[in-house]
Order: sequence, then structure tokens, then C-alpha cells
Amino acid sequence: MALYDLIVRGGRVVTTAGVERADVAVADGQIVAVGPELEGRAGEEVDAGGLHVLPALIDAHVHFNEPGRTAWEGWATGTRALAAGGGALCLEMPLNASPPTLDAASFAAKRAAAEVAALTDFALWGGLTPANLDRLEELAACGVVGFKAFMSNSGIADFAAADDLTLFEGMRAAARLGRVVAVHAESDAITAGLAARARAAGRLSARDYLASRPVIAELEAIGRALLLAGETGCALHIVHVSSGRGVALAAEARARGVDVTVETCPHYLVLEGDDVDRLGAAAKCAPPLRDAATREEVWALLLAGQIDLVASDHSPAPAEMKAGAGADFFAAWGGIAGVQSTLALLLAEGHHRRGMALAAVAALTATNVAARFGLAPRKGAIALGADADLALAALDERYTLRRDDLLDRHRLSPYVGRELRGRVRRTIRRGQTIFANGVAAPDAGGRLVVPRA
Ligand SMILES: [Zn+2]
Repeated sequence: MALYDLIVRGGRVVTTAGVERADVAVADGQIVAVGPELEGRAGEEVDAGGLHVLPALIDAHVHFNEPGRTAWEGWATGTRALAAGGGALCLEMPLNASPPTLDAASFAAKRAAAEVAALTDFALWGGLTPANLDRLEELAACGVVGFKAFMSNSGIADFAAADDLTLFEGMRAAARLGRVVAVHAESDAITAGLAARARAAGRLSARDYLASRPVIAELEAIGRALLLAGETGCALHIVHVSSGRGVALAAEARARGVDVTVETCPHYLVLEGDDVDRLGAAAKCAPPLRDAATREEVWALLLAGQIDLVASDHSPAPAEMKAGAGADFFAAWGGIAGVQSTLALLLAEGHHRRGMALAAVAALTATNVAARFGLAPRKGAIALGADADLALAALDERYTLRRDDLLDRHRLSPYVGRELRGRVRRTIRRGQTIFANGVAAPDAGGRLVVPRA
């Protein structure tokens, strides 16, 4: 009789192939058997009867801001919120920590901070700015999953936007190094110009902010990034695409042979511009929330398989930075705090409301993420030999998200008060339970994950 460390019994196991009732056996943190009514004993047995067992969510886009701006979030709080949302791994962005992750020394500082406090595993993005083109090679050697560039003002003084030459040369280097370049795609000329005009005229409302970042600003930048990626042979990832037309541009380029993937975020799927009046700066982001018709375009493309992954872009800040702006919505700090809610929102609004298959949910939140960033087959799937990273969810449980449910530092989520259906009951990272029934484990234990060489 085989002896395992853990058997998760009797759940409905979700893979990209579908859903089947099976047990999952774990030894040394890895999945070693999957099948109905596995024989053998285990040190721990978890009853997953009535629950679905999904690959734990991998959030490809979070800002935990530590070291340097831990008051904004931090590894301890950010990863506990991620675990509460069914996540066991995040890909953390090179800004807004201080220093930003632009060379080997800043990578080491961030890695050290994460190893002390992170509950989930973590991978790190490096930055691509005009100041660090000569550091991409050392960042790749450190194990970054890719390089993130801003095509418009990042809002962070020590993380400058990448001009076209920086992007071109950075993509050429990334192609040589076998790493993805991720872009925040909005035209700086259009967004900065419209914002300056609005502010000069005293048009400072939330509506004025939305109008200063029109869809064309996103399309212009996506088009330019696709051209540069095609020319350099670079693998391009477009973060937080907010419009169906943006997704379509990428799909056209992919059909021409450009290696491009597209990410969208829950807020572009479940919120719209009208919600900003009600939610205020908790719903301020860039690109901004769009109208309902645009939101439905994004849903249609997501359901059609034209979007590769859904990530939170969790980017919180203290309440005084969100609220202290008075009537000037431009001055409020942007960023949506949603690291805990991606899976729950996709289950409620995608699976239950729109018939999205659970296999598609698993692909968008785990399998595709691991594949794109070189983390498969170790991460992202319920498969033999993979790390035992699992999310156990009660698919039909209905509840209202309360602020008290949230484990991130400031709990300023725009989803508080929302009716949901589908709740994460337990999250397992490499065979260890890191979240169960509302409570995250007190220990750290998260490890750096690096892409396959
Ligand atoms: Zn971001």
C-alpha cells in the first residue's frame, strides 16, 4: 500500500480536459497519483466531497510593493489574500516596490523580502526602462519571468516609461534571452495630452478621467508594441487589455505569426464606467473602466478563447492616497485591489452566469499562465509530477463579499457588497494547506519560482 503525505478525497477534479470525480495523492509536495478511490494511506486526508478541485490560481499580475512601500500592501498581507482567493503563486511586478526591480541587486532585495513573508510561492518580473537596458541579461540570470515596460507614465518616478527605442532594443534583448516582454499599452501622447487639457480646464471629475484615456490610446499602443514584437521576434504579453478591439488587434497579429498573449482583468469584466460614480477611487485604474458595451465585447472574446489569461492587477494604496484628492479624481492614486476575488468572480460571472466551462476557468487562471511564462509543467495543472497547488471550491455557495472576508492590507476592494456564487474553501500549496475556511496560515514558506531554462 502506497503511503502518501496527503490525499484529497472525493472532489470533482478540474483539468483543462474537463471535470472528473477523483482523488489526488501528494508526496513531497508533488502530485503523484490522480484517480477514483485511490488505494493507500496518507499522513493527512482532506475530504473534498461536494467540492471542486481546481489547479490553484496563478496571478500573473500583482503589485505587492515590498520592500519600500509595504504600507501600500506587502508580501505577508498580499499573499494571504491571494491564498484566500485560491492562489498559490503570483508573478509580482517590478514597480511599485522601492527600489524597483531593475537589476540583480534590487531583484535580490525583493526576493529576500518575499522569502521572509510570502505565504504563496512567487515569481518576479523585472523592469524594462530607458535606465536599465544593460541590466536585462543579469535580471534574466536571476530568474525573472519577463520584463515589464510602461508605454505611458507609470506614476512612479524611478520607473520611467519606455520610449520606442527602449522598447525596440529591450525586445531584441528579451528575444535573445528567451523572456517575455509585458507592456502596459496606452499611448502617452494621447493620455498625457488629454489629461493636461482636462486639468487646465478644471474638468477633474471621474468622468473626465475616464474620457482622458480613450480606447484609441490603448489601440495605438498595442499596435505599436505588436509591430516591434514582430520585427524583433520577441514574445509579447499585453497586460490588462480593456477593450474588445484591443484583443482583436492582438489576434490579427497572432494570425500573422507574432508571438503575443493577452491578459484582461476581472474589473474590465464585471465593472463599468458608471460604477466609478458609486465606487470612487476604489475603481480607478488605467486603462480605465469602459462602458457596458465594451465590457460585453471583452466577455465575448474571453468566452471565445481569444484571451489567454485573467489576472488581478492588484495594486492597492493607503486610503488617504485614494481619498485625499477631494474633487480632483486625477490626483487620486489609481489601482484596483482585487487579488482575492479573481477566481470567485470568474465562477460567479463566467461559469454560473455565462456558462464558461470550468476547464476554461482553470486555463485562464492557472494552466495558460504557467505555460506562457515557462513555469509548466511544474506549475499550473493537476497532473502527475506537478506541484500540488490546489484550490478547493464550493461551486454553488452563494454569499455577499464582506470587507471582513478580505485579507489584504487595506481591504478597499470594489467588490465588497457584491453577490457571489462559488467560494474558495481551501488552498493547498505544494501539499500544505495555506488557507482553510476563512483563515490563512500564519507561517511564510513561499519560494521563488523561476522559468525553465
Ligand atoms: Zn499593474
